[in-house]
Amino acid sequence: MNSRIWLSSPHMGGNELKYIQEAFDTNWIAPLGPNVTGFENDLKQFLNTEKEVGALASGTAAIHLGLILAGVKADDEVICQSMTFSASANPILYQGATPVFVDSEPDTWNMCPIHLEEAIKNRIAQGKKPKAIILVHLYGMPAKIDEIVSIANQYDIALIEDAAEALGSTYKGQNCGTFGEYAALSFNGNKIITTSGGGAIVCKDEASKKKAVFLATQARDDAPHYQHSEIGYNYRMSNIVAGIGRGQMEVLEAHIALRREMNLFYKNIFKHVEGVTVFEEPTNDYFSNHWLSCITIDEEKANFTREDLRLALWEKNIESRPLWKPMHLQPIFEKYPFYGTNVSENLFNNGLCLPSGSNLTRQEKERITQVIAAFLA
Ligand SMILES: *Cc1c(COP(=O)(O)O)cnc(C)c1O
Repeated sequence: MNSRIWLSSPHMGGNELKYIQEAFDTNWIAPLGPNVTGFENDLKQFLNTEKEVGALASGTAAIHLGLILAGVKADDEVICQSMTFSASANPILYQGATPVFVDSEPDTWNMCPIHLEEAIKNRIAQGKKPKAIILVHLYGMPAKIDEIVSIANQYDIALIEDAAEALGSTYKGQNCGTFGEYAALSFNGNKIITTSGGGAIVCKDEASKKKAVFLATQARDDAPHYQHSEIGYNYRMSNIVAGIGRGQMEVLEAHIALRREMNLFYKNIFKHVEGVTVFEEPTNDYFSNHWLSCITIDEEKANFTREDLRLALWEKNIESRPLWKPMHLQPIFEKYPFYGTNVSENLFNNGLCLPSGSNLTRQEKERITQVIAAFLA
């Protein structure tokens, strides 16, 4: 049996161990230190922003802290894109708040501005103005940012970007993760760069970053003893893990180029296949890192379903996966309000993510080409 081809696996650059070695040599084995500061500076510089970056234990922690900083409390309502990974929505419930889900639009697969505004108006009419909006840039594709930002400003609601999948993606030349009051980045094992596990929060200013780091390190008041007047969390990134991050930052641009090449690879494979569409940027304003390359299948025209293709790949030890199952269809979230139609549901039913790693070898790509060609024949 051929070895497994993964959807997206860690791809080390080479200098990660050098930074870890430095941490050992200087005994900075703690959730603070030169690698943490260095990684934060690297990220800030890469994002080309005045905003401040705080390195955390995970992207989920970043979303949670973003909600806290936006003032979300128990019984508040928070609008969240329905089509996403559950980690976008779970922190709403950590806060004891209520998620209100909004459907996708077909161009970027992200939050539909029309249904967003409908949701806001309807919640206000019911007596409750939402406290925050969680916008996701799925698979690296920037959302319809101009429209969403304008609605968030019009109704004066905090925008939190979940840019976990979109490091290096831009909209009109500006980096995803720098549009909202707060944004979350993730360095989980399957993301475009990884620290094995980790994340970062992008904060609108220095004061809010300070607050984020304070909350992420158990909310210790300024006193010689342990004194607390707020609930704290253990959410800070360790200096060892941040060393991996510094090494990964050296290869981020290369990884983006390679992921984008994978998208062209699939465009080429499916060029003449009726009923199969490779997901791509709707206009030149959008630049996706193409974290994962995805296709949608029109069953009538293609004469096969996404499950037919997924199982054919799996039989040859090639991993692929259906698109994110929308939150409003998940057992844990289906009782919450939802605004939209069936856009995200159809994407889930007909879409498939294909192996997209920056570390796929020429031989592996040939295997993928051959298996898909045999399936189509
Ligand atoms: C990975 C991911 C997260 C969570 O990040 P972690 O670092 O794994 O906690 C959140 N949202 C989306 C869309 C993701 O893909």
